[in-house]
Amino acid sequence: MFESLSDRLSGIFDKLSKRGALSESDVNAALREVRRALIEADVALDVVRQFTEQVKQKAVGVEVIKSVSPGQMVIKLVHDQMVEMLGADAKVIDLNAPSPVPIMMVGLQGSGKTTSTAKIALRLQTRDRKKVLMASLDTRRPAAQEQLRVLGEQNDIATLPIVAGQTPTQIAERAINAAKLGGFDVVMLDTAGRTHVDEPLMVEMEEIRKVTNPHEILLVADSLTGQDAVNVAKSFDERCDVTGIVLTRVDGDGRGGAALSMRAVTGKPIKLMGTGEKADALEEFHPERIAGRILG
Ligand code: GDP
Repeated sequence: MFESLSDRLSGIFDKLSKRGALSESDVNAALREVRRALIEADVALDVVRQFTEQVKQKAVGVEVIKSVSPGQMVIKLVHDQMVEMLGADAKVIDLNAPSPVPIMMVGLQGSGKTTSTAKIALRLQTRDRKKVLMASLDTRRPAAQEQLRVLGEQNDIATLPIVAGQTPTQIAERAINAAKLGGFDVVMLDTAGRTHVDEPLMVEMEEIRKVTNPHEILLVADSLTGQDAVNVAKSFDERCDVTGIVLTRVDGDGRGGAALSMRAVTGKPIKLMGTGEKADALEEFHPERIAGRILG
C-alpha cells in the first residue's frame, strides 16, 4: 500500500518550527504531497490542480492551534475541502413525481448498467416499498433483454415482456403504458450501451428521453476505468443532462479517485455505488468515507 498522506505530511511538518500561521512555503510543501496522493488515487489532473488551488487559498495564513500539529491542520483542511467537493450531503434517488416515475439508465456497455438497474429496482422495492417495472431497451445485444428478465425473475422484480422486432423507443413507450396500466410506482429503463461514446448512441438516448421524459437519468460508470470514465461522463452529461451518477465496481477500486473526478467534472451528484456482483451490493454514497479512502 501507499504511504498514507498523514504520514507524509507529518514527515514534512516535523522539520518546521512551531510558527504561528501556515506560510505559503509550508502549504506548498504540503500540497506537493497532497498532489502526489491524488494522482496515485487516479484523480484527473485538472481536478487535482483545481483542488490543490482551493486548499491553498484556504490554508495560507491559517493560525495553527497549539493542540494540533501543522500537519494535522493541513490534513483537516484537505479533508474538509474534499468532502465539500464530493458533495457534502448524500443524495438519494428522487421519486417526487407522478407515478409511474421513469428512471433512465445510461452508460457504456460493460459499465454495470443492467446489474445496477436490477440493484436499484430491488432497493426501491424492498426499502421504499415501491412497485417497480424494469424494461430493457437494448435491441443491439440479443442477450441483453433476456439478462434483465432473468435478473427480474431472480429478485422478484417485474419486467416488461419481451417483444421481438421493436425499436428502443417503441419498447420505451410500451414500458410507460404497461407501468401506468399495472399501477407501478417506478419504471426503470435500461438502455443499450456501446464500447465507446458515438453519435448513434447519443441520438438513441435523446430519442428515448423525448418519448419517456425521465425524472432521473442515471449515468452508470465503472470506477476502475478512471480517466476514461470521466470523459464518458462528460459526453453523456452534455447530451442527456444526467441527474446523477451510479459508480460501479467500487469494491475493486481501492483508491476512490474516480468519484472525485466525476463529481468535479460533471457537477452531478454520485447517488449510489455498486460494491459487488450481487443484487444487494449497492450502497449510498458517503463523501466522508470516500475522502478517507482517497487521502489514506
Ligand atoms: P452493462 O453492459 O453495462 O449492462 O453491464 P452489466 O450489468 O452486464 O455488468 C457487467 C459485469 O460487471 C457483470 O459481470 C456484473 O456482474 C459486473 N458488475 C456490475 N456492477 C458491479 C460492481 O459494482 N462490482 C463488481 N465487482 N462487479 C460488477
